[in-house]
Amino acid sequence: MSESTQESLVLGSRDWTDEEFNGAIQAYLNMLRAELNGEPYNKAEINRQLRAGPLPTRSKGSIEFRMRNISAALYELRMPWIAGYLPANNIGSTAKEKIVDLLRANDIAFLELYVPTADRQELDNKASALRKQAPEVRPIGSFQPIMVSKITTSYVRDPAVKAWVLQAAGGKCEGCDTAAPFIASDGFPYLEVHHVMPLSSHGSDTTTNAVALCPNCHRRCHSSIDRDEFKLSLYQKISRLIVEAPAMD
Ligand SMILES: [Zn+2]
Ligand SMILES: [Zn+2]
Repeated sequence: MSESTQESLVLGSRDWTDEEFNGAIQAYLNMLRAELNGEPYNKAEINRQLRAGPLPTRSKGSIEFRMRNISAALYELRMPWIAGYLPANNIGSTAKEKIVDLLRANDIAFLELYVPTADRQELDNKASALRKQAPEVRPIGSFQPIMVSKITTSYVRDPAVKAWVLQAAGGKCEGCDTAAPFIASDGFPYLEVHHVMPLSSHGSDTTTNAVALCPNCHRRCHSSIDRDEFKLSLYQKISRLIVEAPAMD
């Protein structure tokens, strides 16, 4: 049986109009939004409202099937879908493309936040944005995360500079003066070497631009709300450091 024959058997002979698709899509997105926010909603009641409203000639089962088509389209877009509507893929490719187009024409920006990413910065940005929404729903996550390979760039660094900076710190963080948090597998106190002017900003790999920090102070340099002030405090505190001009590119 061809896809289109199957579709017409399930859905009746008349094709769905854009208005009908949109009615279903908008109802679906409202339910999905509620689900993501942990708010209750009633699928049967919404199906009834659709038949009383924008979909007067469609059956309960036909609407249900379209909801599952919408799940299938969202699944393809790697966006979240309503667990109660298992993706149904047995629709014609034209209908599927139409659903994807109409979904994109609707306000689905809130779903972009949930699309998994291999980009660390994008992951952090999305997680921050989601935390601001104070989520209460515990996500399912992924039991088989997709592996991607990517091209990374690195700087060739001088091991003698790293060794010297770590040795000079004498087992204490140069940022907060507390002892290294543990002994590393090489037997030395664990500290991390950070370039105060980043190598990516054309900073030098020299002892006058590198500091030995505990993991907390190191993260503070990269991720803290006060990272600029903290950087200034390092220049003031550690006399061997020389301020370098940032790259002008
Ligand atoms: Zn520290
Ligand atoms: Zn660093």
